[in-house]
Amino acid sequence: MAVVRNIVKTFRIETSAGERKCHVSKDHIIKPGEQHFAYEETPGHRLNVCMQCAPAILEKAKKHIEDIIEEIKK
Ligand SMILES: [Zn+2]
Repeated sequence: MAVVRNIVKTFRIETSAGERKCHVSKDHIIKPGEQHFAYEETPGHRLNVCMQCAPAILEKAKKHIEDIIEEIKK
């Protein structure tokens, strides 16, 4: 059987090495040593999202994937 690739492997929880701005809201600051969500929209370009904004962005991605799975089943 073919190996199933993980197409969202750029989705990660990381520990911030330095102070970062949240990509969702520029008013949110991710402090050094704080955990945050990170992903790549374009390869090699990481986007940082604070833990406050991460659940909503992941829920939206989940809904998108679920909708596509439903489409495939039809
Ligand atoms: Zn945020």
